[in-house]
Amino acid sequence: MENAINGIHHITVMASDPQNNYDFYAQILGMRFIKKTVNFDAPDVYHLYYADEVGTPGTVLTFFPFPDARRGKRGAGEITVVSFSAPSNSLQYWMERFANLGIDFDGPKSKFGYEFISLLDPDGMKIEIVADPNVDSTMGWFNGEIPAEHSIRKFFGTTFYLRDSKPTEDLSLGTLGAKLISTSGNIRRYSLGENESQSFVDIIEDAKAPRAVGGAGTVHHIAWRTANDEEQLNWRKRILDHGFYPTEVVDRNYFHSIYFREPGGILFEIATDQPGFMIDESFENLGTTLKLPAWHEPKRKLIEQILLPLKTKNYVRQN
Ligand code: ZN
Repeated sequence: MENAINGIHHITVMASDPQNNYDFYAQILGMRFIKKTVNFDAPDVYHLYYADEVGTPGTVLTFFPFPDARRGKRGAGEITVVSFSAPSNSLQYWMERFANLGIDFDGPKSKFGYEFISLLDPDGMKIEIVADPNVDSTMGWFNGEIPAEHSIRKFFGTTFYLRDSKPTEDLSLGTLGAKLISTSGNIRRYSLGENESQSFVDIIEDAKAPRAVGGAGTVHHIAWRTANDEEQLNWRKRILDHGFYPTEVVDRNYFHSIYFREPGGILFEIATDQPGFMIDESFENLGTTLKLPAWHEPKRKLIEQILLPLKTKNYVRQN
């Protein structure tokens, strides 16, 4: 079986207004909007997916936008930063773009030898864009505006902010096969995944930090990637053996998932690479219509009446 988890599969975040969310991630950051669906467990709320052009695991950022949601409060027991990789010469482009759009950003700064800038999304979630030479040779998505040479490629990693980091480091990250690769000041950097699916987890411990309060702009969970259903069952067994309580396998249509809460307070998911986002839409049409899993299809009319209208731009391809 797999000895280690193959990096991040997706990250899911709470948001407020769906249109503001779309405008920021698809238009300003230029990620591809690959799926418009609903929260399968609460189908009166959208589930919006942004990724690279096909929804490769490791690039997929998703949101539950509750239009009236209160903003959460950053604090201990959660993921406080989501970091993206852009090519190593792209920070200048992004700084000029944000300056022209009147969007505040911080930096460039440097962590573990990587330059990055940071900014807040419309709901106050902190994101970083990291100059990452490891993606220089990969192809980027072109959204009709942001040059593909500078577009966001994938997750660089995340930051876990914890009161007591030892159980998370030893048990949670240890079980997944993460490797401690570097320490700088109060940050310890772990690596998961190989080659293009490598992602980093930075651990910051602060025993006196106030507890996080969930709400718009806070991370709901992080999903780690596994190849297929068989490997997922192996992971489920291993997680049980380490004293966690994973759920049964849940069908998320585009992947299959198990969930467990790790001791630092962060909700972990392990999701399969298969079947992927083209199970119900072609490459050209990804994200263009509201997709529902078969079991919610009979309620489509009602669901469409409840959801706020969402204006999205159609796929543009430049050859
Ligand atoms: Zn998930």
